[in-house]
Amino acid sequence: MSISVFELFSIGIGPSSSHTVGPMRAAKAFIDQLQNQGLLERVHELKTELYGSLALTGKGHGTDIAILNGLEGKTPHEILPEQAVPRAQAICNEHQIILNGTHPISFDREKHLLFHYTQVLPLHANGMRFTAYAADGSILLTDVYYSIGGGFITDEKHFNDHNKGNETDGPYPFDTAKELLEHCSENNISISDVMMANETALRPEAEVRERILTIARIMRECIERGCQHSGILPGGLNVRRRAPELYKKLNNQSTTQNHSHAGIMNWLNLYAMAVNEENAAGGRVVTAPTNGTAGVIPAVLNYYRNFCDGANEKGIIDFLLTAGAIAILYKKGASISAAEVGCQGEVGVACSMAAGALTAVLGGTLAQIENAAEIGMEHHLGLTCDPIGGLVQIPCIERNAMGAVQAVNTTHLALMEDGQHKVSLDAVIATMLQTGKDMKTTYKETSQGGLAINKVNQPEC
Ligand code: SF4
Repeated sequence: MSISVFELFSIGIGPSSSHTVGPMRAAKAFIDQLQNQGLLERVHELKTELYGSLALTGKGHGTDIAILNGLEGKTPHEILPEQAVPRAQAICNEHQIILNGTHPISFDREKHLLFHYTQVLPLHANGMRFTAYAADGSILLTDVYYSIGGGFITDEKHFNDHNKGNETDGPYPFDTAKELLEHCSENNISISDVMMANETALRPEAEVRERILTIARIMRECIERGCQHSGILPGGLNVRRRAPELYKKLNNQSTTQNHSHAGIMNWLNLYAMAVNEENAAGGRVVTAPTNGTAGVIPAVLNYYRNFCDGANEKGIIDFLLTAGAIAILYKKGASISAAEVGCQGEVGVACSMAAGALTAVLGGTLAQIENAAEIGMEHHLGLTCDPIGGLVQIPCIERNAMGAVQAVNTTHLALMEDGQHKVSLDAVIATMLQTGKDMKTTYKETSQGGLAINKVNQPEC
């Protein structure tokens, strides 16, 4: 049984999968519960409470904006990025929110959207509680949701089942790299074949291919938009968007310069930074496997498209399927939530996914693919999450560029050797989880440690 690749690569908006996409989905899920139970029309007041990391870095990550739009029935996939902030501002200014787009009630930000900075709910650092009240003050419905990384959510009742996602009935169930690789070697098929077989248990192959190509197209368009949009990123840190200038410089170079080692690294940096600047600005991105790390996979995929001989559509599909398989291993065996395990669970996982996927489409053996995915994580172990001002800008934007460059380097190292390696992918995944558990909370998306407290000119958080 496996999680679908379309849950891992979901189309949404920035800046954060766990703090923007997940909360918007949770708010919408609560509203759907009210609707399905016939309670929506009776709601007189609705309170949302944010806990732990969601409270501490929620304002910088747009959690409040996401919640308000989610309560109005918007989804990360459908909402137009440019509408999210103005609509949230209008709700606050007009003191009215329209639940599910049909049921208007009064809204007072101070009373109805609470940030509990010093409290953490028991099951996960990203907790939120929704409570709907009738006109007489009685509770109509209350529920706790957790945003568990990569835009995935679960409510309290289903927390222990959360790693199942929307399970497919595919023929090749796997929880570990060992199981995944056994399917491949026993059936003489590739990792992307395993994933395709599992996906086609849910939907026709033509649809799977088309949807994967749509994801690849949106990733590429995100790079293109990031190369055009200049200016200062929102949030008060005064971070300048650098991708447009870099893009101009690279475009003015000769083909020889652009295809030199340094030239290729510059393009990789540009691709990743363009995506993450779009993400930081609240633009349309593909979660891969999170938003904070949305730049690594598109950057390495563009490297494959633009710099690798023989790149083609099949390679793009195989790349994303292989990357998805590796993400499933981390989601099932450890975590892709920085609030749980730090940045090793985000940029580290993305680097591992990209390195394994690139190795696969460049003709690597199963052993080389496993080796690349393992190396991609091994050298991110212990990486902390300490975003300045709770914004997904510093160190996040450059860190994606580093992750992309490291993934390409990792692939070439793995391809130079025969795939024999001492540390298995499963062992590094287990190590990442243990390291994350040992890490102090201050380094897990709380902006209470590291760079986040050692930088001057911070915005109010
Ligand atoms: S430091 Fe890493 S995990 Fe934390 S917000 Fe930035 S990219 Fe995400």
